[in-house]
Amino acid sequence: MRCPYCGSLETQVKDSRPTEDASSIRRRRVCPDCGGRFTTFERVQLRELMVLKKSGRRVPFDREKLMRSIEIALRKRSVDPERVERMVNGLVRQLESQGEPEVTSDRIGELVMEGLRLLDGVAYVRFASVYRNFGEALDFRAIVNELAGEAAEAEKQPPEAPASGGA
Ligand SMILES: [Zn+2]
Repeated sequence: MRCPYCGSLETQVKDSRPTEDASSIRRRRVCPDCGGRFTTFERVQLRELMVLKKSGRRVPFDREKLMRSIEIALRKRSVDPERVERMVNGLVRQLESQGEPEVTSDRIGELVMEGLRLLDGVAYVRFASVYRNFGEALDFRAIVNELAGEAAEAEKQPPEAPASGGA
């Protein structure tokens, strides 16, 4: 598994365990080259789903691409990656159980917004505002680009003050 930070192919698995609902295996990995840590999930792929875009073009459903746009919406939000994983698993299961080999990009956008609304209000607003701006030409890559720009802006801000309280 290539390191997402430095591109090294030498990453090592530190820990491997099933998720709570046993639908995936979660692996914590570390990159010996840059020290980067990241998590991967292994899961069953039931069948190939096609996405029908507004343009009429059909592309294979890309879970990773969807995950990336959701992760960017969740940037700097402290949401357990396992909850995100479960949300996306549920979303994919919904798509697969609809019995159609095809799903519209609009439907996916709606499901993502539904999921994010329950997960994190800020991420929901980020995703929804981008989704609405793109309206007709919903394209997850465009969302990723837009949100990436927004996240870069956010990084220029000073970090939030640590939460007060506690004993
Ligand atoms: Zn690395």
